Amino acid sequence: MKKSPWVLTLVLFLAAGLLTVAAKEKSKKNAKKKETPMEDKVVKTDAEWKKNLTPEQYEILRKKGTEKPFTGKYWKSHEKGTYVCAACGFKLFVSDDKFDSGCGWPSFSKPANDKAVASQVDSSFGMNRTEVMCPRCGGHLGHVFEDGPKPTGLRYCINSASIEFKTEDSSKK
Ligand code: FE
Repeated sequence: MKKSPWVLTLVLFLAAGLLTVAAKEKSKKNAKKKETPMEDKVVKTDAEWKKNLTPEQYEILRKKGTEKPFTGKYWKSHEKGTYVCAACGFKLFVSDDKFDSGCGWPSFSKPANDKAVASQVDSSFGMNRTEVMCPRCGGHLGHVFEDGPKPTGLRYCINSASIEFKTEDSSKK
């Protein structure tokens, strides 16, 4: 007879433990969701990207290439509007944050919002740089450097081939 309350306690203890683990897993899942809010990632095969992009866009966006400075279509553009990913149309930058850096590539002091670009360390060519990518399709955009204007102090150095300009009217969809 003494045994049953003890067993009950054990069962309750185990149940409480399981519930705690389940709650932790749930909060982990929610935290993950917050980190990657993009439910609509664009995933394509290499062959599909090749078909959908110009050879230059493919080389830069998918193979992390770089266009020659002062050759792209946007390095000296001052029009008001939005810059979206040339591969998937995701909104990346706005013209208000574009500035003349003199480097020959379109330069922005910040992305359109805090989730507008993804980044990762790039140690290629013996350099230590931060690569910036489209968070939706993973396309290579360029790099971010810490020599930009105040207040961010950042320079998002972006390939013209990776972005597409939309005037203010056409971006209001
Ligand atoms: Fe994209």
